[in-house]
Formats: sequence, C-alpha cells, structure tokens
Amino acid sequence: MPKDFLKNTKDEYDVVVIGSGLGGLTSANILARQGYSVLLLEHHYQLGGMATWFKRRNGHIFDISLHGFPHGMIKSCRKYWTKDIADSIVQLKGVRFENPQFSVRTTFDRKDFTQILTEDFGIEEATVKAFFDKARSMNFFDDQQMTVRELFEEFFPGRDDVVRMLMEPITYANGSTLEDPAITYGIVFSNFMSKGVYTFEGGTDALVGKMKDELLRNGVDLRIRTLVEKIEVTPERQVEAVVVNGKRIKCRCVVSNANLKSTILKMVGEEHFDDQFIEDTKAVRLNSSSCQVYMALKPGESFDESCGDLLFHSEHNGFDIEAMLSMDVSSRTFSFYYPQTRPGSDRYLIVSSTNANYTDWADLPEDVYQQEKRNLEETTLQCLEQYVPDIRQKLDHIETATPRTFEHYTRHIAGSSFGTKFEGLQVSKDLPLQIGGLFHAGSVGIIMSGWLGAVNYGVIVSNDVDKFLLSGPSVSAADGNQPANA
Ligand SMILES: Cc1cc2nc3c(=O)[nH]c(=O)nc-3n(C[C@H](O)[C@H](O)[C@H](O)COP(=O)(O)OP(=O)(O)OC[C@H]3O[C@@H](n4cnc5c(N)ncnc54)[C@H](O)[C@@H]3O)c2cc1C
Repeated sequence: MPKDFLKNTKDEYDVVVIGSGLGGLTSANILARQGYSVLLLEHHYQLGGMATWFKRRNGHIFDISLHGFPHGMIKSCRKYWTKDIADSIVQLKGVRFENPQFSVRTTFDRKDFTQILTEDFGIEEATVKAFFDKARSMNFFDDQQMTVRELFEEFFPGRDDVVRMLMEPITYANGSTLEDPAITYGIVFSNFMSKGVYTFEGGTDALVGKMKDELLRNGVDLRIRTLVEKIEVTPERQVEAVVVNGKRIKCRCVVSNANLKSTILKMVGEEHFDDQFIEDTKAVRLNSSSCQVYMALKPGESFDESCGDLLFHSEHNGFDIEAMLSMDVSSRTFSFYYPQTRPGSDRYLIVSSTNANYTDWADLPEDVYQQEKRNLEETTLQCLEQYVPDIRQKLDHIETATPRTFEHYTRHIAGSSFGTKFEGLQVSKDLPLQIGGLFHAGSVGIIMSGWLGAVNYGVIVSNDVDKFLLSGPSVSAADGNQPANA
C-alpha cells in the first residue's frame, strides 16, 4: 500500500496553505500563531520551495538559493519567526565584480558604493547622492511608466560601466531587466544598499529545520508529498475546499504559494473568474529561470579567502540581458561557500548561477540535454580556473540544474526563478476580490520575490487573511489536530 501522506488530517481547516516556499511558510506560521487551524500542503519531499538544499556523497551539502539577501530579513525573521533564526543572519562582506570594464571589491552598501562611484568611476558625489535618494524614495504608488533604463539615463547618461555595476547584481537577484518599471529596481536596490548583503549561517537546511520546528510548535499541520490538484469554489465564488492527493479537505480560505498563473488557470479554473481578470492573468509575463553548476571540493581541499563570497564574473562588454540569459553564457555569479557557512563543517563548495531562458532547455532531446549540461560544467570550470587555478584536481563532485530542474521541483511554470514580472502583483492582490477566501502569497511582481520579498509578502497576505477570517466562525485549531508527518 502506498503511504498515506494525509493520514489523520481533519475534515476542515480555517486555512489551507498550498506550498512551503518562504512566503507560504511565513503565512502559515503567522496564522497558526493567531490561533487559526492551518494545514500546509507541499508536493515536494522537503519544505522550503526554492529555499532548498541537497546532499551528495562524501557529506557535501549544496544550497540552491542562499546567495544573499538584504538586511531587512533580520527584522522580518525576528518579528514573524524567532529570535534564534534572526540571530543566525550574518553579513557577507566579500562581493566582487570582475569584467572587461572594471575589477571591484565591495561590501555592497551605500557608503562603499558611493566611494567607488565617485573615486573609481569619477561620478560627482551630488549625482550619486541624488540617485540613491531617488531610488530610496520609490514606492509602489509611484509612476510606474518610467523604466530602469530611463532611470539610469537620467543620472548616468552614456555610462554603460556604471549601469553594469548598479544593475548586474539586481538582475541576478530577481531577473529584472532595463525594461522593467524603475520602481522594481529602486525598491530592491535600496533594500540591499541599506546595510549590505546577508546570509544565513548554518545553511538552508538549518533555517528550514528551525522554521519547521516553529510551525509545529504553533500547531500547523504539515504535510509533504501532497500535491494540490484543485481549489473548489462555490457558485457564489467562495472558497470551499481543496482536492489533494485525491482527497477533498474543506477550508474557509486558501493561501496559494504556488505559481500565480497555475493557481488561477489550473487549480481554480477560468470559468470562476471575470473575463477581464482572466485576460489580465494570461497577460502576466513570467520571470526568467536559472541554471546552476554545483561544485564540491574533496574533503581537506580548500580555496583562498581572497575569492570573496559573491563574485559577479563576465567576459561580456556592457550590461546585456540577452547575453546573460543565453545558453552560450559568459556571465556567471559564483558563490563561494567556506566551512563557516555551516559551523562544524570542513567543506568548501562553489555554486555558479546564471539566468536562463526556459525555452532554450525545455524541448532538448535527452541526449542533447545531458550533453548541454556537461558543456555548461566544462565552460564553468574553465572560467573558474581564473580564480581557483587547480579546481580540477581539487574537485570531488560536479552537477548541474537547469530550468527543467526548477520546474520539476517547484512546479513553477517554465521554471520561473523569481515568479512574474511587475503586472503579476496586481493580479495577485486582486485575487480575493474575485473569489472570497482565495489569496496568493508567492514570488510575484519582482518586488515580492527573493527571500525578503517572499517572506514579507507572506506577512502582508496573512494580515488580509486574518481580516477575512475575523468576519466568520473559526474551525478550532485545538479541534483534533493530529501529529504532522512532514
Ligand atoms: C537559482 C536561484 C537562486 C536564487 N538566489 C536567491 C538569492 O540569492 N537571494 C534571494 O533573496 N532569492 C534568491 N532566489 C529567489 C528565492 O529563492 C525565491 O524568490 C523564494 O525562495 C521564493 O519563495 P516563494 O514563497 O515564492 O515560494 P517558492 O520557493 O516558489 O515555493 C513554492 C512552493 O509551492 C509548492 N507547490 C507548487 N504547486 C503546488 C501544488 N499544486 N501542491 C503543493 N505544493 C505546491 C512548490 O513545491 C514549492 O515548494 C533564487 C532562486 C533561484 C531559483
């Protein structure tokens, strides 16, 4: 008999959260803490969504998306998770750029960037200040017509090198381009510039383990290997139930952490929405996907601390999004993981990340697909030899993930790494106006993606869910909650 991953679930919950990405986990935690009965359903065998890790022979542990996030994570984790989680967040000080236009080391904060832009790039201090102030003042309610390109043109006309320095890291962090609304850049860039780039000491496995403990303490019913097939709504457009692994479970509301378009078009179905809303949903563009090459050094081998923590490497002249997405990539971000990433470990690992187009990888025949992965590993090693000359002798393990991998594990359409482009945010926000009790809390609109964006969107949406639930009777959290099996 196959294992029943839904054994002993209740017949009904206040809230069903679909997906355990950082947004879903945060919403589930806040709502359970408020006393609601919460069922969290995750199709994968581990929690975390894109915030995940995997283990390989010889004790290697690779992190997928733990490269860097803004300082704001400390506050969000202390407020909505635990002090223990917040206290493990530490700064990454070794950020590097190596490309034909410049070679720069930075702590990636406003003071250091100002110094580099004035002293190395020769920009007037008043211009740098005005740029930072403008980026800092941008918010969601601002003019959304101005593009990132126009923003740079206003402050640094004709300065391709400055644009590259300011834009390249943000493109890696959330897939945004020069054609996206300037506010998406302003908000994300200012978040990073407030105090630099941070990481979670202990690795993603430790973080998600602590989050799981907290969810269980707060009474969330956690279920892994549970794929939600359908969200049922009444003819009056109210959420009624979900169908998961063939079982129907009633609920007062649903928070979907799954891809926005799949939630609306597949799990609920077009027929339950206004025509205009479906048109808007279909028009939402997905964000780009990623490739990663994971490399572990043999136990006892190491690389020099001078490699830094995050290295933006490119052989291309100027900021060129098409070149960054191309299979024939020459721009890579290397994350160097030292033993202190996981205190107690003696392992040195490197992850190379590149933005990627799903369509380049989606339909390759299996043998060509495997060959392209080997090609990517080979060109990545060739590039890395500039920084770790004896990498080939030291290497213990190498493997590659592509947009197909991300699609497979997270079920994001086209393996989108950072949700949707900006227009997705309005559709996500309008979802509860279409169907009572249906909410979306996942990577969307560029600004609500990344670790900080996903956590903060989970907070915002849980407040809306609370308001909605306060208007009706609760399904008691204490009413027969069974032990979770996640
Ligand atoms: C290669 C890469 C590198 C990145 N690097 C960084 C970085 O350095 N810094 C940063 O801040 N961000 C980074 N990100 C982005 C960041 O990881 C994500 O934006 C964030 O983790 C997304 O969280 P989320 O809440 O949107 O959920 P997701 O992580 O997208 O998770 C959604 C979850 O829903 C589940 N699900 C989907 N459909 C169903 C269903 N029908 N039933 C049950 N479960 C379902 C999925 O299995 C998944 O677990 C990176 C992403 C990638 C891919």
